Amino acid sequence: MFKRSLHLFKLWGIPVQVHISWLVILVLMTWSFATGFYSESYPGIFSTTQLWIMAFFASLFLFLSILLHEFSHSLVAKKNGLPIGKITLFMFGGVAHMENEVEDPVVELKMASAGPAMTLVLAGLFFLLSLLFRSIRALSVLFESLVYINIVIFLFNMVPGFPLDGGRILRAIIWYRKKNIVRATDIASRIGKYFALFLIGLGLFSLIFYGNFIGGIWLMIIGTFLRQAAIRSYGAILYHQVMKRLDISDLVRKNVVTVGLTMDLQTLMDEYFEKYHSYFFPVVSDGRMLGIVTIGDVKKIDPEKRPELEVKDVINTNLTDYVIGLSSSPARVFHLINARKYESYPVVNNQGSLLGVITRSDFEEAIRVMMTLSN
Ligand SMILES: [Zn+2]
Repeated sequence: MFKRSLHLFKLWGIPVQVHISWLVILVLMTWSFATGFYSESYPGIFSTTQLWIMAFFASLFLFLSILLHEFSHSLVAKKNGLPIGKITLFMFGGVAHMENEVEDPVVELKMASAGPAMTLVLAGLFFLLSLLFRSIRALSVLFESLVYINIVIFLFNMVPGFPLDGGRILRAIIWYRKKNIVRATDIASRIGKYFALFLIGLGLFSLIFYGNFIGGIWLMIIGTFLRQAAIRSYGAILYHQVMKRLDISDLVRKNVVTVGLTMDLQTLMDEYFEKYHSYFFPVVSDGRMLGIVTIGDVKKIDPEKRPELEVKDVINTNLTDYVIGLSSSPARVFHLINARKYESYPVVNNQGSLLGVITRSDFEEAIRVMMTLSN
């Protein structure tokens, strides 16, 4: 669901994408503005064509408002030296990918406040525009509705539940005072989860008791999305904290069986894979890690040809696919192991010598234990 995004453009080095759900939302928005909000609030004043044009521009300006909101988050992040991947617009709002590693609650506070502040500025701006175009009814109504829209965006985002902006602000404050990011995230994302449940309940209520089909479903979708995001971001923070404290070298299993380049594949099969029950063996020459030979690669070779071929004929030398360096960042190690491509991963020192392997199950167990400890 989160993968289908279209690249729109790049502004100040920040790529802006739109999730395909947003295109559907744009149509739905236009439709509901035209047939609902505008025609009900101003009956008989505008022609159908006028209503649809107004509705279209309202949706477009809403899009722009959200974009500017997200942009302020990203710009503040960039100013504080944080990497901001991209901005993706989807569903009710946008997501500036700011789950990155904020190390300082003050930076988090500034970053989280920037969006709502921009939304307030926009509300004021649209208010001025509505005054300015008072004599043109369609325009003043359009701008006036954008004032309300931005106020709603502001209020929604300021709900103090993580990962909404209000929740980030709350988290930053608790984090600053208690000096504990895990505790702070736990509290803020718990409020986020309750708020999400409240939205789902509200949606269900208005669906059943008021027959408000679109509005009800809409609230339930937003609630569900928010709930998942709250759970996910808490998990992400925990992982991040745990990964920072995890010392890779503690997990290295030494005494690994290795093979040389010139061993023939028949011997490898009979005396290594059969005997040690390992999926792969590191290939080492003069202490240096050259690659790995996997059981899958050997199995691909016709059994009759195995005695004539050697390890060097089937060696996998794409070290970046599986080798962990002692100086690898925790994020890389986590990413590598979580890709679940191999059962274990060779670890090398800065000179490229093999130190041992880390198995996925050891790693996962360590993470689970440390998460229980930090909880
Ligand atoms: Zn925001």
